[in-house]
Amino acid sequence: MNVNALFCLLVVVFCSCWNVPPQSELHFGTICTINLYDKGTRKLYQSIFNRFNEIEDHLSANKAGTDIAKVNAAAGIAPVVVHEDTFTVTEAALRYAESSGGAFDPTIGPLVQLWNIGFNDAHVPAQQEIDYTLPLVDFRDLQLNSEQSSIYLPRLGMKLDLGAITKGYAADEAVRIAREAKSPRGVINLGGNVYAFGVKKDGSPWNIGIKDPLEEDSIVGIAEVRNKTIVTSGVYERFFEADGMRYHHILSPVDGYPARTGLLSTTIIADRSLDGDALSTAVFVLGYERGHQLIESIPGIDAIFVFEDMSIRGTAGVIESFTLTNELFRVRK
Ligand code: FAD
Ligand code: MG
Repeated sequence: MNVNALFCLLVVVFCSCWNVPPQSELHFGTICTINLYDKGTRKLYQSIFNRFNEIEDHLSANKAGTDIAKVNAAAGIAPVVVHEDTFTVTEAALRYAESSGGAFDPTIGPLVQLWNIGFNDAHVPAQQEIDYTLPLVDFRDLQLNSEQSSIYLPRLGMKLDLGAITKGYAADEAVRIAREAKSPRGVINLGGNVYAFGVKKDGSPWNIGIKDPLEEDSIVGIAEVRNKTIVTSGVYERFFEADGMRYHHILSPVDGYPARTGLLSTTIIADRSLDGDALSTAVFVLGYERGHQLIESIPGIDAIFVFEDMSIRGTAGVIESFTLTNELFRVRK
């Protein structure tokens, strides 16, 4: 190796070990920002973003050639052997479909495509189209074979959509990679799917802002957490307006319309982001009474509910440490 080549190699090695500022990239249709503080090397950030690429290549419903595209194309025809990522997330999704009584349903794909909320051709479907599509949504029909790692949708037209749980899985993977690289603390933000892992250098908790569902760049208050994920589902994330009505992207598998339960957003605080992501969507669809019951039945999980009447309620484990910062809202017992 000549002197120039050796110099270049040393520069590359040196730069990849050097701490760099927080990094952002576009994945999962949203901006993903990672801050690993004093242990964030370019190489470590890149290995996390590479992992996001892998997860998208397996689990995206918006991309050709993914496991999800293959399973959907083979609906009513044959089971499809899938990657471990896909099997793990689908298995977890099925568990949450069962525990939420189908409020969370990973076979929601045909309805998601019918509305296409978040894309240019989003529109209110005719009632006939909804009536035709709804029977294709039923998690009880989903067949998983763990020995073969295969997934089967038994009826033509059925479609998997794991958009409500995959960002949580990806956040958990990011934290796993960072911890394996001996990075003790950091904040991962995948478009509202936040994981604040470890504790701050001075030992104090992280202060995480809970988004104001009605106003961009505004928060309703701050939750204090240590080593937790905070995941929010809300009406503001993706929506379109028609005839003075707002139609958001969290759909009710019961009537096929955007879920209307008097809530603007639901936030889950948990140890695993996969759980937080699935539950934030499930609880939004269930509404306060049934959602609160579900959360109280699972140890170690807390929730914050923001209502259309601008009130905020929370489970016992979080509401004590929640600080309201927005005077337009009020905390209710
Ligand atoms: P969540 O509440 O977590 O999830 C809502 C989403 O889940 C809906 O958008 C719908 O897809 C689905 N859903 C709706 N109702 C239910 C229900 N009752 N039960 C279960 N699921 C439901 N967006 C793009 O614009 N372009 C892309 O290329 C793109 N690629 C993506 C690839 C991956 C792997 C993932 C995970 C997401 C991607 N997205 C993309 C974003 C995706 O389309 C969703 O909008 C996003 O995942 C919603 O997340 P959320 O946190 O806003 O809401
Ligand atoms: Mg979710």
